[in-house]
Amino acid sequence: MTPDQLLTRPGTARPTLRSAVTGLPSYVPGRRSAGMDVAALASNESHYEPLPAAVTAVAAAAGAMNRYPDSAAVELRKRIARHLGVTAAEVAVGPGSVGVLQQIITGLCDAGDEVIFAWRSFEAYPILVELAGARPVRIPLDHLECHDLDAMAAAVTARTKVILLCTPNNPTGVSITHERIEAFLQFVRSDILVVIDEAYVEYAEAGSGPDSLALYREYPNVCILRTFSKAYGLAGLRVGYAMASPAIAEGLRRTALPFSVSALAQTAATASLDAGEEMEARVAAVKQERARMAALLEARGWKLQPSQGNFLWIRADDDLRARLIEAFDRADILVRAYQGDGVRITVADPASNDRVLRILEAHAG
Ligand SMILES: *Cc1c(COP(=O)(O)O)cnc(C)c1O
Repeated sequence: MTPDQLLTRPGTARPTLRSAVTGLPSYVPGRRSAGMDVAALASNESHYEPLPAAVTAVAAAAGAMNRYPDSAAVELRKRIARHLGVTAAEVAVGPGSVGVLQQIITGLCDAGDEVIFAWRSFEAYPILVELAGARPVRIPLDHLECHDLDAMAAAVTARTKVILLCTPNNPTGVSITHERIEAFLQFVRSDILVVIDEAYVEYAEAGSGPDSLALYREYPNVCILRTFSKAYGLAGLRVGYAMASPAIAEGLRRTALPFSVSALAQTAATASLDAGEEMEARVAAVKQERARMAALLEARGWKLQPSQGNFLWIRADDDLRARLIEAFDRADILVRAYQGDGVRITVADPASNDRVLRILEAHAG
C-alpha cells in the first residue's frame, strides 16, 4: 500500500461534531396539543386561525409548488417597505425572524466575536450565537424584569459585533422605553449592530416601547426584527424580516439559504399585511384578555410586571415552578417552564384563559 492509500484506509475513527454543536441543548419536542381539551399555551402562537385572506392566497398559490419561490422575495419586500415607510432595499426576509437573526449573526460575527443580550430572554439567542462560533454575553435582567442597559453598555468590548434588545421581552413581557434605548444608542459604538427584536410589538400598549422606526432613521446601526409568526398567525409558514441600512440588508440577503422563504409564505405574508385591520381586532381581544387576567391575578396576590406581549410571566423559584407545572400538566394546559426563573403562559381565548386563572388562583400565595 502507498502512503496515500494508508491515509484513506477505513478505520475506527468516526466523524465528529464541532464542540459548539455538541454543547447545544437537545431539542425537546413540546407535548403536542393532541386532544380537544389540551390548551396549547407554550409557544405564544396566535390561537386564531390564519387571516382568511392568507388562507385564500395560499390555496391559490398551492398549485405552483413545483416551482422555486422568488428568492429575492420582491413583492413581499415591497409590501413590507410600504408598510413601514422605507425602501425595499432596507428589507431582508427569512424563514421566521429566527432565520433572519441567524443571517445577522453569521453575516456579522467571526469566530470569537461577542454578541450581548439580556438574560433571561429569547432562548434562540445563545444557540444561534454559539452555532456561529461567536461568544454569547448574557446580562441579567434588572429587578423589574427589564433589560439592564447600563450593564449591557458596560459589557461592550472591542470584540462586540451585535447587541440584541428584545422588546417586549420574551419571556418576561416587559418593554424597554424609547428614552432608555435612545440613551443607549448615544453611548454604544456606531459600528455595533443593535438589533431590536420586536416579535410581539403588535401586542404592546402604545408608548410602552420604543418608536423603533424613528430610532432606525436616526441611528444607522439599528436593525429592526419582526415576524409574521405571532400576531399575524403564520407561525407554521416561517417568515419574518429585518429592516436595516441598505448595505446590511443586502448582506443579510446574501447570507440567506437560497429559497428559504417559500412562495406560500411570501404570498400569505403579503396578504396578511393587506388584512392589517383584522389582525388588529384580534390583537385588541388578546390585550383585553391580558388585562382581565392581570387584574384578577393581582387581586389574588400575584405580583406581576405588566406584560406587553401575548403572554404572562410568573417569576417562580424551582419549588413553585414545579408545583405550577404539575398543576398545569394535570389540567392538560401546556405552558413554558424556565428552570430557576419561572413560567410563561400564552394569553389565548377566554375559555383557555379561565382554565389558567383557576390554576393560578389555587396557587396564589
Ligand atoms: C417567537 C419569537 C420570534 C420569532 O420567531 P419566528 O422565527 O419568526 O417564528 C423572534 N423573537 C422572539 C423574541 C420570539 O419570541
